[in-house]
Amino acid sequence: MKIICIGKNYVNHAKEMGSKIPKEPLFFLKPDSAILPKKHPFFIPDFSKEIHYELELLIKIKKLGKHIGKKFASSYYSEIGLGIDFTARDLQNECKINGHPWEKAKAFDHSAVIGSTFYSINNLNEIHFELKKNGNLVQQGNANDMVFNFDDIIHHVSKFITLKIGDIIFTGTPEGVGPVKIGDYLEGFLNGNKIIDLNIK
Ligand code: MG
Repeated sequence: MKIICIGKNYVNHAKEMGSKIPKEPLFFLKPDSAILPKKHPFFIPDFSKEIHYELELLIKIKKLGKHIGKKFASSYYSEIGLGIDFTARDLQNECKINGHPWEKAKAFDHSAVIGSTFYSINNLNEIHFELKKNGNLVQQGNANDMVFNFDDIIHHVSKFITLKIGDIIFTGTPEGVGPVKIGDYLEGFLNGNKIIDLNIK
């Protein structure tokens, strides 16, 4: 399976990064080796001094598809989850300045946290999610605030890359991204259900 991640998909997050809103979904990949095994803590890697959390809604692909029309896109997923796209922000900034690819900042081992449960959610207008760090609310988002919705993303990405059963799409983070340090504790909630419970070591 592969992990596809969308960048700058919330207006206020693009602003906090000093970026423009993209004209089409901006995406990059993480390999399956990026998945943090279930119930494992996240160990801060020694190559970065600035690891940031980015809480994101996930969709799981349930059907093989390529060149998927927008009006058919919703039949390619039915389950929604929550994840954290850990980012080595210092390395990412270096890559951006040099015009290099982002992989070492985004695709490193255990940089993809996938919540314990995926839910079938029928009403896409009622998806709310939040992240607490050490008990304090640091990020909250709503699927309605995405620049490109799930169907736009599937339509766009599948023009270039075949989507396969089990692929996961990280659909972008809302504002409020920030650093983690050893000893922090992160909790992610999807519509009030806690599905991320993570110690930083
Ligand atoms: Mg992200």
